[in-house]
Amino acid sequence: MPIDVLIVGQGLAGSLLAWELIRQEMRVIVIDNGRENASQVAAGLINPVTGQRLVKNSDVLDLLPAAMQCYRVLSEVFQQHFFVALPMLRILNNVREQRAAEQRLNQPDYQAFLAAYPDATDAIKAPYGVLRQAQTGYLKTGLLLAHLRNFLIAKASYRQADFNYNELILHPNLSWREFSPKHIVFCEGHHANQNPWFGGLPFQPAKGEILRCRSAAKRPEQIINYGHWMIPMDAQQFKLGATFQPGQTDTRPTELAKHTLLQGIAGIMPGLMPIVVTAQHVGVRPTTLDKQPFIGSHPQYANLHIFNGFGAKGSLAIPWHAKQFVAALQKHALLPIAVNIQRYYETHFLR
Ligand SMILES: Cc1cc2nc3c(=O)[nH]c(=O)nc-3n(C[C@H](O)[C@H](O)[C@H](O)COP(=O)(O)OP(=O)(O)OC[C@H]3O[C@@H](n4cnc5c(N)ncnc54)[C@H](O)[C@@H]3O)c2cc1C
Repeated sequence: MPIDVLIVGQGLAGSLLAWELIRQEMRVIVIDNGRENASQVAAGLINPVTGQRLVKNSDVLDLLPAAMQCYRVLSEVFQQHFFVALPMLRILNNVREQRAAEQRLNQPDYQAFLAAYPDATDAIKAPYGVLRQAQTGYLKTGLLLAHLRNFLIAKASYRQADFNYNELILHPNLSWREFSPKHIVFCEGHHANQNPWFGGLPFQPAKGEILRCRSAAKRPEQIINYGHWMIPMDAQQFKLGATFQPGQTDTRPTELAKHTLLQGIAGIMPGLMPIVVTAQHVGVRPTTLDKQPFIGSHPQYANLHIFNGFGAKGSLAIPWHAKQFVAALQKHALLPIAVNIQRYYETHFLR
């Protein structure tokens, strides 16, 4: 069956790319093995200003409006609330962060994102102060993926299957089982290191664990970010996360992660104790050596592509990059240099 694009992986990357391609009236098939998926685990946080130095994401003025528009359209189409806008209280952890905060509060380009927050109650232990971050919130990734999967199934554009790389025929034309795609886009998350064509790219996957919790105590209405974070959910529920364990790719929950996350929140909001942990989830982020996504075409097989490497920022970054990628595929538009895998053509072995 001739199709335009075959996508491998129905995480956030493959799903939003498929959505964008279908909106451009391209014939798409998405293959997913239904196994472990970082997007299902992800907290979906969108936070434009991050790190100890409180640095604004350099592309935020592109990425954020594209993400908001994408999730707004999806919400309208599926009549579901996918993105929850919620301010974030950033707890300053030491003198260095306090100085960085003072500096940022004086920078005009940070004013849309940060404000002083002198109103912190005694319930939050913050001897170095608190900032209020704006334009933050979280994406309900599991809910969105479920809707997009049903949408693809309804369009006969979804197959649950393992994409076995040996089954792909490259010459004279691309074909995989009954499909003859013009392009194949690999969106396998951290599993991309198994990919025979793109597995040589410098991925640096990082395991992460999240707790779903409950407490009888009143919890803040904002997201609390203290290095780790607390996201208020419905009623007395909240999530705590996420650990960052570079180099680990197993998906076993650990007592150490649970202990670390519970100890962290107890130090910031002791009034929330005792906390009941109702679930512990584990995933592996597709992080990369230079912290930039891996997008683009294989140097030798021009119709094999990768759309991956969104690390810990998939919710913010994927919608804008999906648009750029579709323009590159359809109209031969140039991809942004910083994310284009051409940067590794000479230095990395692409098998
Ligand atoms: C604990 C944790 C917390 C996170 N928190 C946030 C956050 O707050 N905000 C944020 O923006 N991001 C967060 N992330 C990162 C986010 O999950 C990623 O940026 C994004 O979800 C990656 O999506 P993806 O589609 O590239 O990969 P995945 O979601 O991993 O999807 C890849 C899919 O491909 C499938 N697949 C792989 N190989 C094959 C094959 N051969 N055949 C068929 N199917 C295959 C897999 O089964 C999977 O379904 C977090 C991640 C973790 C683990």
